[in-house]
Amino acid sequence: MKAYDGMYIDGAWRPAAGPDVIEVVNPADEQVIATVPAGTAEDVDAAVRAARAALPAWAATPPAERAARLAALRDVLAARQDEIAGTVTAELGSPPKLSQAVHAGVPIAVAGSYAELAAAYAFEERTGNSTVLHEPVGVVGAITPWNYPLHQIVAKAAPALAAGCTIVVKPAEDTPLVARLFAEAVHEAGIPAGVFNLVTGLGPVAGQALAEHPGVDLVSFTGSTAVGRRIGAIATGMVKKVALELGGKSANVILPGADLARAVNVGVANVMSNSGQTCSAWTRMLVHRDQYDEAVELAATAAAKYGDRIGPLVNAKQRDRVRAYIEKGVAEGARLVAGGPESPRERGYHVSPTVFADVTPEMTIAQEEIFGPVLSILRYEDEEDALRIANGTVYGLAGAVWAGDEAEAAAFARRMETGQVDINGGRFNPLAPFGGYKQSGVGRELGVHGLTEYLQTKSLQF
Ligand code: NAD
Repeated sequence: MKAYDGMYIDGAWRPAAGPDVIEVVNPADEQVIATVPAGTAEDVDAAVRAARAALPAWAATPPAERAARLAALRDVLAARQDEIAGTVTAELGSPPKLSQAVHAGVPIAVAGSYAELAAAYAFEERTGNSTVLHEPVGVVGAITPWNYPLHQIVAKAAPALAAGCTIVVKPAEDTPLVARLFAEAVHEAGIPAGVFNLVTGLGPVAGQALAEHPGVDLVSFTGSTAVGRRIGAIATGMVKKVALELGGKSANVILPGADLARAVNVGVANVMSNSGQTCSAWTRMLVHRDQYDEAVELAATAAAKYGDRIGPLVNAKQRDRVRAYIEKGVAEGARLVAGGPESPRERGYHVSPTVFADVTPEMTIAQEEIFGPVLSILRYEDEEDALRIANGTVYGLAGAVWAGDEAEAAAFARRMETGQVDINGGRFNPLAPFGGYKQSGVGRELGVHGLTEYLQTKSLQF
């Protein structure tokens, strides 16, 4: 057990203002592996002041120099990839291969993409008799969740820094260790003091203090819709800018001409990855009635193959929440074809890969975000019915469409109310904008769209 003290503020590790700590637990064996300081409003204030003080010089730093610092940061993340992966496995419980490829690998790609964008982006443009300047929004307050703990920090910090903003990050309580590692990487990359600051702490204490701080110009939040709504209300009440990446209940629509086995297998893998703790997971599989029984059988077999190879959920509360949803699915009449509410292991916060058939659109498990390894398979009559079901939730974050050819799948995807759709198994693209329609959020992350979230325009007329 390691007791960390200090938070990264103004380029150094400073002692916390208060004595409280947060215990970090390994969800695979329920052992406390570390403690970190539970920051207070006083710590947040110190961090925001440091970020404000550093803003004028960083905003005035030429984009090519900001790009060079981001490239250095990417290199440090790459050099420390094993350590990052090990840390995420310890505090989130994700299997080592997933930690290497996704939890450590994606942030390297995203940091690299912003090193390139900072160098290439036109921060000035001409229109008619005007010059339009794209200037940094100012000080960013970033509040992040635990499910992709480093990715979600980098998806905010890298574009903010590329834009010339300074930032204070409040990471999730469950996964502060990889956030500390990132602060070390920022330091090693030679990013000037005060440009990046880290305050660990509880959401309703440190997170809320950050959202409410008058020195923060933009609040960027990723997490649950319930907390996002509160943060949105605070930010707009103070006329701050706000970006919200919230929950999802995405549809995987399998049209009759698709390669059914591939669509089902990829769909099951998508839901089980990261133990289902993925906001953009395709947790509702929509299958035509003629292929329904075959799809259910394929999905049940695929889920059973995962056995206990998936990792645990992040904490006991999350495990209990997911199990309660599984019980609710049974109570509302859905048919369990794989998994179930019983814990597959004695230790650790595990839930079995679970598949429900005979799910109807109005059931709780078809409407609410479960955030666990639980797939619901729904039956549709025709394309219009499939579209109505796919669009029939308050969310609109992601989705997938499978069809005999790409054009048919894309035509369906155009009618979906959602921010991202993978066509016939399309791959993740770190440059594509990511974000939600409807209650899945406000704003976009990644690529050039993610960069412009951190910019505001000034026009000069000549
Ligand atoms: P959460 O909303 O409970 O917590 C997210 C962050 O907000 C944490 O850092 C937490 O400490 C902080 N927080 C909590 N209460 C707060 C308050 N009152 N004021 C300020 N900050 C507060 O969410 P979670 O359980 O950590 O994450 C799971 C949720 O996040 C899921 O609903 C998931 O869909 C969503 N999510 C969305 C995306 C996306 O990009 N759209 C990505 C990942 C997760």
